[in-house]
Amino acid sequence: MSKMTSKDYIAREDKFGAHNYHPLPVVLERGEGIYMWDVEGKRYFDFLSAYSAVNQGHCHPKIVKALVDQAQKLTLTSRAFYNDVLGEYEEYITKYFGYDKVLPMNTGAEADETALKLCRKWAYNKKGIKDDQAKIIVCDGNFHGRTITIVSMSNDPDSYAGYGPFTPGFVRIPYNDLAALERELADPNVAGFLLEPIQGEAGVFVPDEGYLKKAYDLCKKKNVLFIADEVQTGIARTGKLLACDHEGVRPDILILGKAVSGGVIPVSAVLADDEIMLTIKPGEHGSTFGGFPLAGRVAMAALEVIKEEKLAENAEKMGKIFREEMSNVKSDMIELVRGKGLLNAIVIRNKPGKTAWDVCMAMAEKGVLAKPTHGNIIRFAPPLVIKEAELREAIGLIKEAFKQFE
Ligand code: PLP
Repeated sequence: MSKMTSKDYIAREDKFGAHNYHPLPVVLERGEGIYMWDVEGKRYFDFLSAYSAVNQGHCHPKIVKALVDQAQKLTLTSRAFYNDVLGEYEEYITKYFGYDKVLPMNTGAEADETALKLCRKWAYNKKGIKDDQAKIIVCDGNFHGRTITIVSMSNDPDSYAGYGPFTPGFVRIPYNDLAALERELADPNVAGFLLEPIQGEAGVFVPDEGYLKKAYDLCKKKNVLFIADEVQTGIARTGKLLACDHEGVRPDILILGKAVSGGVIPVSAVLADDEIMLTIKPGEHGSTFGGFPLAGRVAMAALEVIKEEKLAENAEKMGKIFREEMSNVKSDMIELVRGKGLLNAIVIRNKPGKTAWDVCMAMAEKGVLAKPTHGNIIRFAPPLVIKEAELREAIGLIKEAFKQFE
């Protein structure tokens, strides 16, 4: 049989897979560090990092070793029994982020769901809100995942349309709007405020400096939980371990996913102190895989890599270079360059034949992979292990791609 080409792989996915994604026509088969290779052997700079899951770089040897070693010993016990890894992981991650307890889950969406449940439990058991009356404030433009409850919070029709009836109990306000937050916080039934410290899927929308701290203070005044979804912004992506660290804010509930495992297996986590976490009792929440031994070993290795390789510091430094270089590009297609650390975006002035998609196609041809969001925004988020010379080489290729549209 002759070797399959990219076209064959794409046709097969198209035929047998649901059409819930629209990928760039590149078929990848191998990854190492900041690079991925397609089935024809072409090398690419990865500038998406699987939506910030692969912060530590593809197939990081330390993380893969942790995976393989544990996989040969014990993979899954369920939580019906104890295992010898979970406690070590729980101690490690709670000390790492400075919380009393962790509730381990698998995907980001599950961790968000967990945080919502925790917030409601706390509202009824601690804050004294009457049964079924708790409200949680969320933001326009939010992206927290794909479950029915999570899309119930969304104002993006692509996310919610056709999936009703929706889960009640959410109040949506504009992002980066403290006056709106203060107004809604006047309602005594408000239990929590859930937000992304930088809105990733919305197009790397960075709020004004001071917003997080002021929003946190407003929540504290009203005994409302400040819940940070750091699934995309966390784990060093924005130049600090957490994006909330930029403003010295410690969320009451912290939601993590993606890079907790370095993109090796799905691992997510919800962190909180006892007053909140212990409102969920045995049998009231869980997941077959949540906290499985493989996850514990992989996550500990992945979190160690972040510190050992000083990835937050590198993200901060490399991000500055990226924004400076790209801001200086003279192109009438570039409306705006924004971001923090290595979570950046370029807003494109779309014209026929000159859209964000066209730019991404041109970049792929040059050997840089990135993906448009919302039709006119390109996110640039390479693995945080990228070195200055590599970054400058990639920037050169990105600039060449833009030049093609002059
Ligand atoms: N929260 C945020 C901020 C995200 O960016 C994402 C995914 O992009 C999620 C939650 C959902 O994570 P998952 O796809 O692992 O369910």
